[in-house]
Amino acid sequence: ATPTSIMVGTGKAAENGILFKGGEHLERTHELNAIVLDKTGTITKGKPEVTNFTGDEKALQLLASAEKSSEHPLAEAIVAYATEKDIDLGEVDDFKTIPGHGIEAAISSNQILVGNRKLMQDHQVDIGDAEQELIDYEMAGKTAMLIAIDGTYRGIVAVADTIKETAPQAIRQLKEEGLEVIMLTGDNERTAQAIAKQVGIDQVIAQVLPEEKSDKVKEIQLQDKKVAMVGDGINDAPALAISDIGIAIGTGTEVAIEAADITVLGGELLLIPKAIKISHVTIRNIR
Ligand code: ADP
Ligand code: MG
Repeated sequence: ATPTSIMVGTGKAAENGILFKGGEHLERTHELNAIVLDKTGTITKGKPEVTNFTGDEKALQLLASAEKSSEHPLAEAIVAYATEKDIDLGEVDDFKTIPGHGIEAAISSNQILVGNRKLMQDHQVDIGDAEQELIDYEMAGKTAMLIAIDGTYRGIVAVADTIKETAPQAIRQLKEEGLEVIMLTGDNERTAQAIAKQVGIDQVIAQVLPEEKSDKVKEIQLQDKKVAMVGDGINDAPALAISDIGIAIGTGTEVAIEAADITVLGGELLLIPKAIKISHVTIRNIR
């Protein structure tokens, strides 16, 4: 491999908004045969909005007050929804994130839980006949969270995040380049499958706890594959670091960009197949 042709390759990539941290990554990109993509903020825009809320005003007030302490994009959507409805948010006395499951907070004399089925099960909250409603939201690709106040089920809040317009085309091009395409998410199986279907991904690994994402990448590598990981979040950083090629979404967190080998500007997914094409052209010309 001549250093000059590598420089030409990374230079061409940079002109397109694909930033390689070093020439050696171009050679490894050429060898990839699988790519793992995070869902929220990578395949979707990462700007979720509340689409449904079943519960009374008191539940909404406690829900939004609690979520104000969370930095999760889901929390931002809920706070924005309550603000729009002119709900006054209360002081939070105690707040805890339960990674991959939800949140728990104490607000004056109330205890509130917001999150998935597992969170409710772990706190012995009976969700009554909410299961069917939950399934309906999930089938539509929405993330539905259950709300419990003082141990009693009080409603559901459903949030939708739209896919990036170019995602289906980018996925198609990745497949055309011969890559196996896999979606990795902490969200539930049904929601993940619905989003995967919209973009043309048929392999989904869902309900993965934040600290387990890198283990999943390792498992794929152990199947004798060269794996790229694409992500935007703090919780994607270990997976980006362990993968053969880590690709950060430029609109994502600093931590993800730090951990990655490549950054694609503006979060444009079409730049990923483009990077792979550039690597092929560059490396084939060398050999
Ligand atoms: P993602 O891969 O989509 O970022 P996370 O691991 O962050 O997933 O979250 C997984 C699940 O945990 C969410 O789908 C949601 O059900 C629950 N959850 C996470 N954060 C919150 C929050 N702030 N409020 C309510 N539920 C949450
Ligand atoms: Mg993400």
